[in-house]
Amino acid sequence: MDRPLMISALLEHANRVSGDREIVSRSVEGPIHRYTYHDAHTRSRQLAKALTALGVQLGDRIATLAWNTYRHFEIYYAVSGIGAITHTLNPRLAPAQFTYIVNHAEDSYIFVDLNLVPLIEAVAADLLSVKGIVVMTDAAHMPESNIDNLLCYEDLIDGQSDDFDWPEFDENTASSLCYTSGTTGNPKGALYSHRSTVIHAYASALPDVLNLAEREVVLPVVPMFHVNAWGIPYGATMTGAKLVFPGPMLDGASIHELLVDEEVTFAAGVPTVWLGLLNYWRENNKSVPSLNRTVIGGTAIPQSMIESFQEDFGIEVRHAWGMTEMSPLGTISLVKPNVPAADKAARYRSQIKQGRPVFGVDMKIVDDDGNALPHDGKAYGELMVRGPWITSGYFKIDHSEAHDHDGWFATGDVCTIDPDGYMEVTDRSKDVIKSGGEWISSIDLENQAMGHPDVIQAAVIGVHHPKWDERPLLIVVPAKDKTPELASINEYLTGKVAKWWLPDDMIVVESLPIGATGKVLKTELRAQFGDHKLPTA
Ligand code: AMP
Repeated sequence: MDRPLMISALLEHANRVSGDREIVSRSVEGPIHRYTYHDAHTRSRQLAKALTALGVQLGDRIATLAWNTYRHFEIYYAVSGIGAITHTLNPRLAPAQFTYIVNHAEDSYIFVDLNLVPLIEAVAADLLSVKGIVVMTDAAHMPESNIDNLLCYEDLIDGQSDDFDWPEFDENTASSLCYTSGTTGNPKGALYSHRSTVIHAYASALPDVLNLAEREVVLPVVPMFHVNAWGIPYGATMTGAKLVFPGPMLDGASIHELLVDEEVTFAAGVPTVWLGLLNYWRENNKSVPSLNRTVIGGTAIPQSMIESFQEDFGIEVRHAWGMTEMSPLGTISLVKPNVPAADKAARYRSQIKQGRPVFGVDMKIVDDDGNALPHDGKAYGELMVRGPWITSGYFKIDHSEAHDHDGWFATGDVCTIDPDGYMEVTDRSKDVIKSGGEWISSIDLENQAMGHPDVIQAAVIGVHHPKWDERPLLIVVPAKDKTPELASINEYLTGKVAKWWLPDDMIVVESLPIGATGKVLKTELRAQFGDHKLPTA
């Protein structure tokens, strides 16, 4: 039967078959909040009615500026459920980018968490399309503010009954919108549909992907404002998994407390967050017995982090790769069953790669002329992808350079693909270091350098060299009480990378600049250190 795939059906199903399964949140107001899928379904329908009463129509953009909590979850379902578009805004954006995005999307309402209201106050006068701001709290916590038409979330839904049937419409209707980080040029909007979101949710739940199931307890540390928390609010709901939302507190101690108290089995996030947690565990001699698995992605994971999770704490690491334009799931790295448990070197070689495509994602690598390259693990070229949850263009942009006529999307990642299908990201095409006509992978160098005991974080950029064009400059954050030396790091790297890859110089910094989505900002490092004079020059 040709039945439309509807996002509201996910929550309706969870209500029907897993209605008593819990959704636990660290609220922005402070206390832990707990309720069930049944409660979430009731309140989402109340909110759907409230939105309709506000005049929200099919296709309207309703923005959120919010942490991972139950209220954000309700908005996801209520907004998309009535055919409007949930537009997630990243609170870590600079005000100018933030304003650009709201005006480009023409958001009509913004739902904002209590502690993020000042971000809106700072730019309110410049938000041209916004009719009202809804503070995601109750009357008792409403802030004093000079914003026009400030509404209270709990008051908004309080007056509504839940006597509401989710409407059915074309599954290709837009459901949510997320702008790319925009490291070059203006951010661009990736628009998802009900169909793409539900198919992505099915795929994400597969055992060899996120392995979502009713018996799982899932903590998405990855924010709901970054590619819909990798789709977990949909996949978890589809399966009735217990959800644990960390709210605004993402430090090691706060995450640890939730992991232990809620007996979390699976958590997902970017490497910088896990670095904080691993440090907390080591410094306080703690661990989390219930936690079996973590999915880490967004940037490459150093092998030292995978080793630490698996060998020190007994937690399986699944390395994932994806993009905003891909909803985001692209590949995931699991070790093939025929690799012996004892062959640790081979296992880590697989895990360090970004992994094999999830069913639904087609991949190829191409040279500068667009010719397909062999999948031999050696040839590298730009990765092209296509699939039912990959965006076919950008919101309100007529022509996208990244989309070709044959329906492939150019990712901007330079990759290899091996005969088993494992993709490995060598670099972003703009970060690759061109030395004497050959390429050096900054990601590979960074990962290896982070294995050195004196180094906690590393980034590598290419700087000008009169003979070689570019040579690698290593920038490191030292481990606690350590003083890294280039000679010792290069000795450690010898044999792990080609000799001509060894960095020509090193700079020690207190911290690396991290962007709004948890990635090291290479552009900022290049602006700061791009003119560095190498001793070899
Ligand atoms: P975003 O759209 O902000 O999620 O960024 C997508 C980009 O992040 C990709 O094109 C990659 O360059 C990078 N990325 C995501 N996951 C990984 C990973 N596991 N390893 C290396 N780079 C990654």
